[in-house]
Amino acid sequence: MPEKKNAYRDRELAARIAEKIRAVSRGVGKVRMMHVCGTHEDAITKAGIRSLLPENIEIISGPGCPVCVTTAREIDEAIALAGQRVTVTSFGDMLKVPGSASSLAEAKASGSDVRIVYSITDAVDLARKNPGKEVTHIGIGFETTAPSTAIALLDAPDNFFVLSCHRTIPPAMDYLLREGDNRIDGFIDPGHVSAIIGLEPYKRISERYHVPQVVAGFEPVDVLYAILLLVKMVKDKDCGVRNEYSRVVRDEGNPKALKAMENVYEPCDVAWRGFPKIPGSGLALRDEYGMHDARKKFRLRVKESNEPKGCQCGNVLKGKKYPSDCGLFGKRCTPDSPIGPCMVSGEGSCNIAYKYDRGTQHA
Ligand code: SF4
Repeated sequence: MPEKKNAYRDRELAARIAEKIRAVSRGVGKVRMMHVCGTHEDAITKAGIRSLLPENIEIISGPGCPVCVTTAREIDEAIALAGQRVTVTSFGDMLKVPGSASSLAEAKASGSDVRIVYSITDAVDLARKNPGKEVTHIGIGFETTAPSTAIALLDAPDNFFVLSCHRTIPPAMDYLLREGDNRIDGFIDPGHVSAIIGLEPYKRISERYHVPQVVAGFEPVDVLYAILLLVKMVKDKDCGVRNEYSRVVRDEGNPKALKAMENVYEPCDVAWRGFPKIPGSGLALRDEYGMHDARKKFRLRVKESNEPKGCQCGNVLKGKKYPSDCGLFGKRCTPDSPIGPCMVSGEGSCNIAYKYDRGTQHA
């Protein structure tokens, strides 16, 4: 049987859209679009999309990698927990992320009980099978993973705890437009997050700051078409929100997931790596779930945390620098020996740039 053609990876279609982008961009002036999703950065770099765009269209990367935005302080908290004979579970990427002085991988190597899990269900099962252990899962990620953590807590055993490092994307976008010193003419909105939150939170941002936005999928044609729509919107001074990814994202999002989040979490102010505290951008466990809150149970106190010296992750996450602008990129900082979190995760800009083009596309 002939292989079915994936229209979203069709080179000819991609080339035609790129041609249209070049035509529409003439006379528009400089346009800087930000995406806030590590999977978008991966798709853009892997497909060489930046090289297809005219000089006046720039795609910058925002704080869309969940591992990268986790702060050194949060890693320090997890390491402190592991030092209190608590079993700490985490997704694999987090183990290498540097805290102030060490990482969870180093804590594990020194004998702490740190385990990699592939889903939060594995962590809950571990707690259930080991009632004598106190098991804490590091809850990271945006609206895509926060519902799974919330659902797991509905029926978790008493010896299961969560160190919530979950965050929500719209407050960070709001912060970048309100306080950021970086020009952003439009957003490519993250498809996975949008499948949960729908379009409404973006509409409020567009109304407030008059920036156009397009929700996009993750194939090259998705991203190119989103760029084309955004350039047209900038040209037409259309500050609305369009949904290019309607095969997955509904206007209203996923009401069940949103309800689960609302029941379990309340918004809190939290710092992101390289950012100060962003109001309402964190997800703290509500009092009803306080018995599962690792910060309450173990009264975590960690010292003021430090970012790695010379690391530009904060500026990379704000779209102010490209990975290749960091003096450590590819020299002292590589995926095998990461200095900052953006080199650790497969969704981190530095890791992606190293993997696909050693930064040359960005230079
Ligand atoms: S290259 Fe390494 S040190 Fe530099 S910004 Fe990226 S992760 Fe941080």
